Amino acid sequence: MDPVQLTREFVSFNSASYLSNVDCSNAMAKKMREAGLSVERIPYTDPNGVPKLNLVGKKGRGTEGLALMGHNDVVPAEGWAWDPFQVVQKGSKIYGRGVADMKGSVACMIATASRFSESELAHPIYVVVTADEEINCGGAAVVAKKSEVLKTSNARYGIIGEPTLLEVVHAHKGSVKISVTAKGKAAHSSTGEGVNANHQMIPFLNDVLAIDRELQTDAKYLNNAFTPPHATLNTVIHGGEQASNITTPEAGATVNMRPMPGQNFDPLLDKIRSLAQTHDVHLEIYDDLFPLATPVDSRIVREALSVTQTQTPKTVAYGTDGMIFGKTMELVVLGPGNIQQAHTIDEWIEIDQLHRAVDTFSEMVRRFCT
Ligand SMILES: [Zn+2]
Repeated sequence: MDPVQLTREFVSFNSASYLSNVDCSNAMAKKMREAGLSVERIPYTDPNGVPKLNLVGKKGRGTEGLALMGHNDVVPAEGWAWDPFQVVQKGSKIYGRGVADMKGSVACMIATASRFSESELAHPIYVVVTADEEINCGGAAVVAKKSEVLKTSNARYGIIGEPTLLEVVHAHKGSVKISVTAKGKAAHSSTGEGVNANHQMIPFLNDVLAIDRELQTDAKYLNNAFTPPHATLNTVIHGGEQASNITTPEAGATVNMRPMPGQNFDPLLDKIRSLAQTHDVHLEIYDDLFPLATPVDSRIVREALSVTQTQTPKTVAYGTDGMIFGKTMELVVLGPGNIQQAHTIDEWIEIDQLHRAVDTFSEMVRRFCT
């Protein structure tokens, strides 16, 4: 199977995370079956009521083996000079939304599976395709909970094929999302009878900023293996358009923190909870996306370094489905293309990266499955 041709086909479906990925998944499932994989379909409905479909393909007998893992949602494509869902080749590159992040990589995984015959696989190859990676790894969470194939076959090792230029990444940051709401009481601002929700929210966020400064300067939170060497914190303030003569009845904000492996974030979260009480704001904390931290002496890291002929595994700042699958599996992030091109207008990938990815994945499969 030709990974470039497969990429071309998969990119033609607009599977931006806010839309359904079902058509794209069906096309991938068809190619997976042609490559000799049996396909477990794991559908769900996302929080906005949009149908989503995850896939877990399997080929080969026995248990354990190697999982090749990717997602088929993409970020929205606006501002392109041509149709972003029509792959265009210019010289040694192809352009299109998702060629690098990461339909090209999924194409390579399926092409890899097609290279092996059922009888030579003493342990299975899995090809896992999730939805909603770009928003909160929602599809991966469903797969982790519901995949009978992954559960019963005790799959322990995997490759997350996000674009790393085929370099080995063994660790990345996690993600903690905190939804903050403050409730006040609307009144004409001249009466003095209202309660302004922003007057609870603003001092709370100001105290959270102090925590951000602590993260950036306190040695116990620093880790020079990462760029930047500290956890990051991002605040988004919601809405706010209203008449200035009405006291604001409700205020909302989201705080996203990216903890690093090995950090104990619980005391910080406790501190934030206690600040919320002080300022009378309500919190919902989502802290199920863990940092990925595969030990450097794990077999998956050692084999990946050997196959790519490199010495030292890297770390990255962005997150992947490894924030979910890394809780139960030993993973590396290793895939074709450059993360610099992900999410950009005119996203591209070198065709050579796709062919090299098939070779790299195939050598990993040979070591773990044959
Ligand atoms: Zn991605």
